[in-house]
Amino acid sequence: MSSSPGPIPSSWVSTGHLPTPEVVQSLVREAHAQFGSVDQGRVAHGIPALATASPQSFGISVAATNGATFNAGDWAVPFSIQSLSKPFLFALVCEAIGEQLARDTLGVNSTGLPFNSVLAVERTEEGLSNPMVNAGAIAATSLVPGEDAEAKWRFILDGLSRFAGRRLEVDAAVYQSEQATNAGNENIASLLSAHQQLWCEPRTAIDLYTRQCALLVTAQDLALMACTLANGGRQPLSGETVIAPLICRRVLAVMVTAGLYETSGDWLYQIGLPGKSGVSGGMITVAPGKGALATWSPPLDEAGNSVRGQLTAHFLSERLGLNLFDSRPSGEAIGQAP
Ligand code: GLU
Repeated sequence: MSSSPGPIPSSWVSTGHLPTPEVVQSLVREAHAQFGSVDQGRVAHGIPALATASPQSFGISVAATNGATFNAGDWAVPFSIQSLSKPFLFALVCEAIGEQLARDTLGVNSTGLPFNSVLAVERTEEGLSNPMVNAGAIAATSLVPGEDAEAKWRFILDGLSRFAGRRLEVDAAVYQSEQATNAGNENIASLLSAHQQLWCEPRTAIDLYTRQCALLVTAQDLALMACTLANGGRQPLSGETVIAPLICRRVLAVMVTAGLYETSGDWLYQIGLPGKSGVSGGMITVAPGKGALATWSPPLDEAGNSVRGQLTAHFLSERLGLNLFDSRPSGEAIGQAP
């Protein structure tokens, strides 16, 4: 399907709400206790500074659209945001250039390929992928407004900080470590440039993207950032409108398509919610209108998705009644969440 007109205006939005605060907090603690001992997966080794992360680290944070947060474990420990910056950066670019143009320029279809695939660019004649994989994310970063690299960086830092509701900072060690081992992303940027899919100097695009990936966040920051996407674009604590409700819809759609790379279909089949993973072990899951879950646990599966993060998302999606595809036959009593 090519570009279509915008949505048909409607004032009716059907969502729902989370169970009581006591139920949410107790399930968050239960998930932490249950999955803390899982020892599958491997800490990422592609970026040397990430390889030293402790496999034991495990934090969970749930944020409700009213701003309440429910935490367990290492929820306050900072780690680099990595690919979890991608949905928020895409949102900011949609806001800056318009969501239709962003779609036409970057693509929104699944590549079915690993996050760092060069083939993702070669796959179509135009070099389109989607903003959740490195190719589309680097292209999205190159679209950031600003007359020079510093102005572009200010836009990125300000925008991602507004999602978090606090000023974010770069982890210099992670930034330098990724810069020194960035051949894969440099390759992608050259290919994008050859396909006229890069809107600034390749070196600038890569530098901005790498800095953006090195921003430090906690699981609670991420829960609040993701909750902004569940809350029509308004940050639940600061009350600031970061993006428009329509852009939230667009971003969540792309997360469903490609948030877990080539295993996005498996994720959706089981969890039934938009999600995004990152190489440092973070994961976000969004329940539109209700809230969001963020986890941090560095051991990853083969596709680069946190093992404990996926188990936690599955458990909480079920127990909190979040799966978007769930329904009960009409007239049948719907029980209170446990
Ligand atoms: N900075 C990482 C890269 O570009 C992000 C990948 C990820 O988190 O999946 O390789």
